[in-house]
Amino acid sequence: MPELPEVEIVVRRLDTALAETEVESALAPGMNVMKTFDPPLETLAGRELTRVRRVGKMPVVEFGNLALLIHLMSAGRLRLFDKRASLKDRASRVLVRLADGRELRLREFGTRQRAWAKLLPAGAVAADEMVASLGPEAWPPPPLDDFAAGLDQPRHLHPLLRDQRTIAGIGRSWVDEILWEARLSPFRKGSELELEEVERLHAALHVLGDAIDHYERTIGPDLPDKIPMPLQVHRREGQPCPRCGTTIEAVFFSEHQMNYCPEEQTGGKVLKDRRLSKLLK
Ligand SMILES: [Zn+2]
Repeated sequence: MPELPEVEIVVRRLDTALAETEVESALAPGMNVMKTFDPPLETLAGRELTRVRRVGKMPVVEFGNLALLIHLMSAGRLRLFDKRASLKDRASRVLVRLADGRELRLREFGTRQRAWAKLLPAGAVAADEMVASLGPEAWPPPPLDDFAAGLDQPRHLHPLLRDQRTIAGIGRSWVDEILWEARLSPFRKGSELELEEVERLHAALHVLGDAIDHYERTIGPDLPDKIPMPLQVHRREGQPCPRCGTTIEAVFFSEHQMNYCPEEQTGGKVLKDRRLSKLLK
C-alpha cells in the first residue's frame, strides 16, 4: 500500500500536471467505489481541477468547492494517462476525463474492490469521519509532546504506529524502517517507552522526509504504477543489516510481514515464534 512518502510524490506530480485543467466528464466504472452519491460524480463535468493534495495516506483531488477524497486501500493507484482507458479495463474504478484528452484514473489491481472515493464539499473534507479520526501527520513530524501523547498506549509499537488514529501516514513498509532507524523493538509497548526512546522514535520519522527527497530526485513527471521504495530492512530478511551486518529477520503474518535487526532492536533475540505473531494482531 502506498504510504505517506509515496502518496506525497504522487500528489505533487499530479498537482503540477493537472492544476487548472478542465474536466470533460467523470465516471465510476467500479461498482462499489463511490461512497457518496450526492453530489453525483457527473457534477464534475465542466469544472476546473484546482489542486491535488494529501491527507495521511489519502489523495484529495479538488475541483473548486468540491473535493474527491480517495482511499487507495492496499492495491489502488492514482495515475494520469495521456489517453482514455478502454472501458474494458477492469482495473478502472474512477475516471476523470480531461478536456485536453488526458485522463486521471483510479485503478485497483487484483480481484478485490476495496479502494473507495467520496465526492464532498471541499470544506467538508476535514470533518469526514476518516479524516477527522486521523492523528497528526507523520511528516513533517508533529511536535514531540503530541507524538508522545499519541504513543502512550499499552500496545506494541508496530501496530500502534500503523494505526492512523495515532499518527497518520505510516504503513507496513515504513514502520519497519522507522523502528529500525530508532533501534527499537516492534514488540515494545508505546506506554513503556522512556522519554529518550520516544525522542529517538520521533527523530526517526526523518526517514519519511528522506524518502520524499529520494522520490523528488528519482521520479520524473510520469509516475510508475509501482514506485521503487528506498527501503533498508522491510522485506530484506536474510540480508545483512546495512548498519551492523547482522542478518535481518522477519515475522510473518497472514497479510504482512515485519522485519527487524535482532542485534540492534531486540537484544539479539530472534522472534520467529508464531505465538508472538498472534500477540501483535
Ligand atoms: Zn543492525
